[in-house]
Amino acid sequence: NFISAVVPPGEIGIKFDDIGALEDVKTALHELAILPMKRPELFSRGNLLRPCKGILLFGPPGTGKTLLAKALATEAGANFISITGSTLTSKWFGDAEKLTKALFSFASKLAPVIVFVDEVDSLLGARGGGFEHEATRRMRNEFMAAWDGLRSKDSQRILILGATNRPFDLDDAVIRRLPRRIYVDLPDADNRLKILKIFLAKENIEPEFDIRGLANATEGYSGSDLKNLCIAAAYRPVQELLDEEKKGKKYDRTPALRSLNLDDFIQSK
Ligand code: ATP
Repeated sequence: NFISAVVPPGEIGIKFDDIGALEDVKTALHELAILPMKRPELFSRGNLLRPCKGILLFGPPGTGKTLLAKALATEAGANFISITGSTLTSKWFGDAEKLTKALFSFASKLAPVIVFVDEVDSLLGARGGGFEHEATRRMRNEFMAAWDGLRSKDSQRILILGATNRPFDLDDAVIRRLPRRIYVDLPDADNRLKILKIFLAKENIEPEFDIRGLANATEGYSGSDLKNLCIAAAYRPVQELLDEEKKGKKYDRTPALRSLNLDDFIQSK
């Protein structure tokens, strides 16, 4: 199967509120994707207000693009289909035409649906001169033809959402089909604070824990880096317990793990 996931809207389990910061991105996605899917009647008059067929999320790795795509499906009440560009081109290069047709006909049946194409650059990257695999080229052409062929009735309810860390590798023809491009940036200190608060909301941390100090000290960290930092810190008390046990200390019950303090985070950085 070349599709990495198909999830009905209620089962994704991620909402916009679970994503820290990125307020502008959420607002843009609301206008461009959620409203047209939920209130198509508002977009059916005139020529200016047309739902868009494609949106590109671009920006550094780990900034929440995949998370946004999933939350968007929840918020729009849409099914979610996810495919990964590099898997598609490496594993399935023999069957470009069949696969692309299958994907699009499957998507029409599941509409309203978000088709998330992660690493869209590997599937739909710039024409690669002599090095390009013939099959990759065919896959891309088939994909674009099927995309153009979406009937306008369907296009309101099928959104292709591409994500990439390498927007400059995208072919012009693809860029044109992804007319709305949204930059998903690394978080600044205020936004790191919002993200950290989400990760630490249910953790047992010391009352004087300086979460603002941690946000200030993590310049350049993506949301994904911050999550890894929190996981590593949360593991420290567990590690301490295991070390104690190794020294022969026996517990008749699992003691409450001690609360986290700033040192746990600093040491894991
Ligand atoms: P890549 O470009 O490497 O595919 P990405 O931009 O798609 O990365 P995600 O896969 O969405 O990034 O993020 C990785 C993980 O980092 C998420 O599962 C989530 O746990 C965490 N994360 C990233 N950004 C945020 C955020 N703004 N709020 C909450 N969690 C976040």
